[in-house]
Amino acid sequence: MKPIIVANWKMNPAILMEAKKLFNSVGRGIRNIKKVEVVICPPFIYILHLGHVKYNLRLGSQDAFWETKGAYTGEISSQMLKDLGVEYVILGHSERRRYFKESDEIINKKIKAVIVCGLKPILCIANLTQLKKSLRGISKKVIIAYEPVFAIGTGKPCSISQAKKMRNKIKYPQVLYGGSVNSKNAADYIKKAGFKGLLVGGASLNPKEFVKIIKTVDES
Ligand code: PEP
Repeated sequence: MKPIIVANWKMNPAILMEAKKLFNSVGRGIRNIKKVEVVICPPFIYILHLGHVKYNLRLGSQDAFWETKGAYTGEISSQMLKDLGVEYVILGHSERRRYFKESDEIINKKIKAVIVCGLKPILCIANLTQLKKSLRGISKKVIIAYEPVFAIGTGKPCSISQAKKMRNKIKYPQVLYGGSVNSKNAADYIKKAGFKGLLVGGASLNPKEFVKIIKTVDES
């Protein structure tokens, strides 16, 4: 199983031209990467404009609604995303839990819809209660991203030993680490803490730094 490195662009960059520039820089920078799967999760609106086929990049989204279609103003379904070439869906990110009041029950419904559609869910959790509740009734192995809230966007990454402890408690084959990852600490989460990939926020908006992160994991 290849490690995966997921870029969560959040609500960035501010305009499409910048998004294309960023996407192309990363795509060019990882042409020789063989051992890592790289997934870019841009804002929904940019997805159709990013020519991932040209590069060794996969597309992901930062959320997806649980219904396929209907009267759900403002929402976007997994099927719509799949139709545009999306393969992965981040669900339960702490920002969605915090600002949009997403509960484990809502996240559970979204994960089920993503699975039915044939896409790969990436479930973000900060603790084991969220893991258990979000996956109630789901037997398929999903990708888990352990993201301690104190480490997200703060520049204060979780220590390798603490992350490793948590990784060992999550009995899933593919567990990613997320929270202030940079090119200096990236490889340690894989080599020393046993994670099978990374979820990268802030550093994924800097193409040089993001490519460096990917290369350090590819070489590790
Ligand atoms: C995230 O948004 O999931 C994240 C880990 O952000 P950052 O890398 O900026 O901490």
